[in-house]
Amino acid sequence: MSKKSEKKVLLSGMQPSGALHLGNYEGALRNWVELQNTGDYEMFNCIVDWHALTSGFDETDKLVPRIYEMAADYIAAGLDPAKTTIFVQSHVKEHAELHLLLSMIVPIPWLERVPSYKDKTESLGLDSYGFLGYPILQTADIIIYRADVVPVGKDQLSHLELAREIVRRFHFLYGEVFPEPEALVTKFQILPGTDGKKMSKSYGNFIALGDGPDEIKKKVMSMFTDETKIHKTDRGHPDKCPVNIYRTIYDPEWTQKIADFCAAGDDSIGCVKCKKNLIRGLVDYFADFRARREELLADPAQIDNYLKDGAERARQRASETMVLVRKAIKMYKPEM
Ligand code: SF4
Repeated sequence: MSKKSEKKVLLSGMQPSGALHLGNYEGALRNWVELQNTGDYEMFNCIVDWHALTSGFDETDKLVPRIYEMAADYIAAGLDPAKTTIFVQSHVKEHAELHLLLSMIVPIPWLERVPSYKDKTESLGLDSYGFLGYPILQTADIIIYRADVVPVGKDQLSHLELAREIVRRFHFLYGEVFPEPEALVTKFQILPGTDGKKMSKSYGNFIALGDGPDEIKKKVMSMFTDETKIHKTDRGHPDKCPVNIYRTIYDPEWTQKIADFCAAGDDSIGCVKCKKNLIRGLVDYFADFRARREELLADPAQIDNYLKDGAERARQRASETMVLVRKAIKMYKPEM
């Protein structure tokens, strides 16, 4: 059994349930790349395809292309397969075995009280074991790597707390095997959707990481602005305007000056010019990303190799954990 690395083990992941957008980038991916580049962590990044089936079980023809796109997005954004183990969840079967074993010790009320279970079953009109057992699989995803930390936003803290509760129950019954995973709460910029509401794949109000200049232009030109600023000379509220919020990140140089003009009702800049600046900013900001992404997607064999290599490394760690788990539970094992 290989010795556990001295570095803290970090687990992160996302569902391949559609195109990654700027909200995913600012809310997670940018942070993962920064954490990777500190060199302080042994990083595992999982493309959680089984989780995507909870709501996407009837659109499995989209799964493979989405996995390729997600892998390309990760790598083009700066996750380096040599530094971060990038892999697909279903390629490491140990996740499923641990999920099954944990499901024996988790009381159903623990799962029923998870807010997202109620929200999702109500909003999607679906109710399956997959939805109910989602937090158990999520816990297995984390602890199968004996992860010390999980980068999360404040809104995901309750999910991690449940994972910690499940770990404590396992330890109470069978003895210590896992670290209790801790939240690495990071500050990140929450981007509104192009309509000013919460950005969401299902609302279609996002700019995808893979969008080219024409799509960026179309989406930015139709973005909502401050609704009280109808004429150039009206005093605007740039702090509430999605265009300005995006510009603070992707076109920061003139943002403050333009915000001052907007707030003062100075007619030297209006919303159209402001949006054109944002388009230029976004196109330039993601130019290298787009080139690398296109190069990767044109060569799926390269992505296959990264994911195969990642799955192999992940499987090694996961299989070591399962030896400890089976031993702790006292599963039958004949003498070899
Ligand atoms: S001028 Fe710019 S910041 Fe002001 S409301 Fe228009 S788009 Fe928003």
